[in-house]
Amino acid sequence: LTLRPEHQGKRPAVTVLAGPTAVGKGTVSQHIREHYPQVCLSVSATTRPPRPGEIDGVHYSFVSHQQFDQLIEENQMLEWAQVHGLNKYGTRRDTVEDAIAKGKHVLLEIDLQGARQVRKTMPEALFVFLAPPSWEELVRRLVGRGTETAAEQQRRLETAKLELAAEPEFDAVIVNDTVGQASARLVELMQLPTRQ
Ligand code: 5GP
Repeated sequence: LTLRPEHQGKRPAVTVLAGPTAVGKGTVSQHIREHYPQVCLSVSATTRPPRPGEIDGVHYSFVSHQQFDQLIEENQMLEWAQVHGLNKYGTRRDTVEDAIAKGKHVLLEIDLQGARQVRKTMPEALFVFLAPPSWEELVRRLVGRGTETAAEQQRRLETAKLELAAEPEFDAVIVNDTVGQASARLVELMQLPTRQ
């Protein structure tokens, strides 16, 4: 995937937002979806079942394992990863290419493995790491969310420890103290107009 010359300005065409589990990537994405319509949020495909309130085609495109594997086979995934050992998550290549072709600015909210793949295929993208204010706060957010079993929480925290060490690989780090502040900072980094 190469960017067309007309989009190779100072402003990055693609921004990758990564960070450990429960840091608030989803909340920041949701806030951006609601408050910054100028940002094109990429809708990932996933084999994970929807959580209450999640809408197919808005938060994720919910697909079967068979459908997901077919997308991989047909080389339709820009990146994909098996996250937390269970489900697959990925970004469809055509979604990103179409948005770039329309001159939109695309935000990918993906995990670290995915971010590393995009780093290889699109090194010109902007890579932003969303960090928790502290380890204790990260644990509090994960447990407080209450969407995972204790065993699943444990698995995610182990992954989170490894992921936090990857912070230096990123172009910028945003500490997620509050969703509004973190989102505003992200939009600023994307060099998009801020809210009136
Ligand atoms: P959740 O199940 O909490 O929605 O997401 C679990 C993890 O999957 C999060 O770290 C999220 O960033 C990641 N994720 C969501 N979509 C994608 C994607 O398209 N690609 C990759 N690599 N990770 C994703």
